Amino acid sequence: MAHPKREYGMDAMQTGDTELIRAINRFHVLDTIRRFEPISRAEIGERTQLSRTTVSAIITALLDEGVIYYDEGEPAGLPVKSGPQAKAVIARGRPRVLLRMNPNAAYVVGAKLSMHQVSITVTNLRADPLSCLVLPIRTWRLGAALIADLLEDGIRAAVAQAGITMAQIAGVGVGLPGFIDSVAGISHWSPILAAEPTPVPFAKMLGDRLGVSAVIENDANLVALAERWFGHGQGVDNFVIVTVEAGIGMGLFINGDLYRGHHGMGTEFGHSKIDRRGPLCRCGQHGCIEAFTADYAILREARKIVDLPPTEDEPSIEAAVCEVTRMARAGHAGLRAVFDTAGEILGLGIANLVNIIDPGKVIISGAGMRAADLLEPSVRAAVAAGSLQVLNGRCEIIFHDWTDEVWARGAASLVLQGLYRVPWSRNARIEMAI
Ligand SMILES: [Zn+2]
Repeated sequence: MAHPKREYGMDAMQTGDTELIRAINRFHVLDTIRRFEPISRAEIGERTQLSRTTVSAIITALLDEGVIYYDEGEPAGLPVKSGPQAKAVIARGRPRVLLRMNPNAAYVVGAKLSMHQVSITVTNLRADPLSCLVLPIRTWRLGAALIADLLEDGIRAAVAQAGITMAQIAGVGVGLPGFIDSVAGISHWSPILAAEPTPVPFAKMLGDRLGVSAVIENDANLVALAERWFGHGQGVDNFVIVTVEAGIGMGLFINGDLYRGHHGMGTEFGHSKIDRRGPLCRCGQHGCIEAFTADYAILREARKIVDLPPTEDEPSIEAAVCEVTRMARAGHAGLRAVFDTAGEILGLGIANLVNIIDPGKVIISGAGMRAADLLEPSVRAAVAAGSLQVLNGRCEIIFHDWTDEVWARGAASLVLQGLYRVPWSRNARIEMAI
């Protein structure tokens, strides 16, 4: 009999849900191989606390599916040794046979929609990028159907560029800013789809065009997923991601599960209020953290001190923020103070999160990390000053170097959850078998 892990297993046993126990055990074995490969059966047993019989049954199934293979020196991606061949290896009684994941057992597509561009990445099961495509498209001017058409064309081109076919794609994950119900596949509101008067079933629109399952998710949640699978969130059940860029986003893992809120639209950290008489936010209310710390807020304050060219769209805002960052870094005292204040407000907000959630880590990420060196001292000081004494210093604050690849990995992780049959996404409606 298996020894299911922690509360998942107990909960499942009490409800008699053997399917769930099986899914949980399978996930733990596969995740252990992914993280610690090459790895022996004995070590898998030690790390997962599963019985030899259970580990053996799961490994046999994974070998048959081609998801893992015996490491006998062959490079990843070669034909999988399973079935009778695999049994022959076992029968020879080799003392230590190592297992590896076959990264090319499945391919997925990750896409990120932002106001002025669409980024598409094709990855394998390990989220290694195989091809990337960036399309300069002003999405916010277009209707949902046209965006879906352009995304379809881009995805087909990126898949061809990766040297594979659409038939080999197990799923597509798309990240976009806004209020996204990932389970239902609906965008309730997004600045990308602002031209649409009603909620948009974007996952279905894209899935129908491609003939492949598509999943959509809030972009900050994608970063949280990427950190959970590949970054600082590995092995940490409670952590927070704060993304700083055009807006301020947040992704939250609680008890190993991505927290979305009762209506699927929670964790709007950027719109938590710091000062009710504060500046006007894009949401129409006053004094949100975002209205002090996002790119547009930095520019608003910088314009009071230095002359800057007019900014009309996201690329020109980006260019102006980069210039302001450069001047501050070169020693402009007034502009340094702008970043100090933005960092202080951000740190105050994070101290509140630390006090409410008691996370193991807070990871600060996003394009705003171009100015991480300017923000970091005041963020850290404000977190230290605002955290309850009992929590002070216990939560690790990480400033994560930023690359667009994080989005792609996150979007890929969205699909990988389905492929790995991750038990913590029990509600997700992705049912894809490898
Ligand atoms: Zn707001």
